[in-house]
Amino acid sequence: MKMSVVSKEYQELNKEIFALQEGWKSMLAPEAVQVKIESNTIVLGIPMVSFMSFDLNIPLYLQWIEELQTLLVKNQENLAGKMGSVNEVMNEEITLRWFEEAISVNQPYFASFASENGIDEWIPQFLAETALRPYLQLAAEKAQPYITAKKAGSGCPVCGEPARFAQLEEEGKKVVHCPRCLAHWNEKRLTCSHCGNENHETINFITIEGDATGQIQVCDECHGYTKVIDSRQFIAKQSPALLDLNTLHLDFVAQENEYSPVGEKKLAN
Ligand SMILES: [Zn+2]
Ligand SMILES: [Zn+2]
Repeated sequence: MKMSVVSKEYQELNKEIFALQEGWKSMLAPEAVQVKIESNTIVLGIPMVSFMSFDLNIPLYLQWIEELQTLLVKNQENLAGKMGSVNEVMNEEITLRWFEEAISVNQPYFASFASENGIDEWIPQFLAETALRPYLQLAAEKAQPYITAKKAGSGCPVCGEPARFAQLEEEGKKVVHCPRCLAHWNEKRLTCSHCGNENHETINFITIEGDATGQIQVCDECHGYTKVIDSRQFIAKQSPALLDLNTLHLDFVAQENEYSPVGEKKLAN
């Protein structure tokens, strides 16, 4: 098993994107995200972003999208033509819509936007989502003090992203991190992040030869998986987004073994 199944170019490009996003986030005023959280929000399993208001700076968001396009074209010149038409159709109304649909991960919206405008299918959602992240990360920072309990199966309590990445931190404590908004929360070591299953007979671990720090926790109740990275052994601390990217080989192995990053939702009795 090769440790790195993702090309160096792909990893380098993503690192450049993370660097852009860090810079973008520093441009956001703290009041760009307002939190109106009810104490029972997390228990209900509704992502906290539904209870937040975002003051979108439209020119700034569009500027970020252009910077991202420049980076993508620099990496792959033939994208230039495919990107061009995006900027021609963007106006205030569409920008607001992109921002909202990116928050709720509305794939059908972006797919039809792409086909209506003759743009490659992945491009609109990728641009909208990448430029949204600084807002989501600011939202997660503000929401973090309110994350006290988490209902299994509802994904990240802040943004709703499936929970599929955890780290073992001090004293072997398992902390689930959301690579999308960077929210984090504690979880019992032998609990499935997707369905809450605690039965040690149906929770298993897949380890990979040559990888001493990463393992895949799999659940035979919901067929979901979570990558569990022992980051105590790392000399240099890496951000969860970067660690998630650097451990994509674990996602491939988990999915080859027919486990899913989402887990199957079971019908309530
Ligand atoms: Zn999240
Ligand atoms: Zn499960």
